[in-house]
Amino acid sequence: MKLRIDVVTLFPQAIEPYLNASILGKAQEKGIVKIKVHNLRSFTLDRYKTVDDYPFGGGPGMVLKPEPLWRAVKFIESYTVSTPRVILTSPQGSLFSQEKARELAQEEHLLFLCGRYQGVDERVITLTGAEEISIGDYILSGGELAALVMIEATVRLIPGVLGDEESIKADSFYKEGLGPPQFTRPRVFQGLEVPEVLLSGNHALIEEWRKKKAEEKTARIRPELLPVAKDKKE
Ligand code: SAH
Repeated sequence: MKLRIDVVTLFPQAIEPYLNASILGKAQEKGIVKIKVHNLRSFTLDRYKTVDDYPFGGGPGMVLKPEPLWRAVKFIESYTVSTPRVILTSPQGSLFSQEKARELAQEEHLLFLCGRYQGVDERVITLTGAEEISIGDYILSGGELAALVMIEATVRLIPGVLGDEESIKADSFYKEGLGPPQFTRPRVFQGLEVPEVLLSGNHALIEEWRKKKAEEKTARIRPELLPVAKDKKE
């Protein structure tokens, strides 16, 4: 096993099917990753299994109480040999990226905490040393989708997970900028033809064309990703 992942959530049923399907499911079957989902509610001690409470200072909504989350982290830390890197899904965190995925893919053990409602009691962050990571500047109702996004982006980078490792290199963000446009059969669809060069069999020419198209699209849609823009920023 190369990576162990624990996820703490109030809604295991919302994420388990996704984790067990397709590439993530196969990665687990192959024994490359082990993913365990824990129900936050099982870390409560009171008879009502309370996970949330009103915010101190007033205001709308509910806040996830610190005890169950803290207990979940301590429990996972105590029964696993490796020390997990604790990640709190949060819109207030640093932005997730392909670079971050590469960094997480080097780890042995990741532990994702999924927030809900108005978020989690701040002391959870202080006490567990959790790193807050956001998947973008918008608000979701919970951290489940964010955890799935990060898990999928990370796991596919671990050697052995994808059938064809080369495909990673053809993706956007592998180098600078976006990837090239892709075409498959049929050669003509609804009157639109596949660019001639792709049928030429001339690999050097094809590479050059792909590079040019990728750069054009990056310049049009995400100019800030081009090396020139990056140099300026530094
Ligand atoms: N009141 C909070 C938002 C809470 S949203 C705030 O203003 O910052 C509820 C939970 O959903 C969060 O605790 C977090 O776990 C998750 N979440 C929402 N948006 C997210 C995002 N962009 N990235 C990662 N997690 C997010």
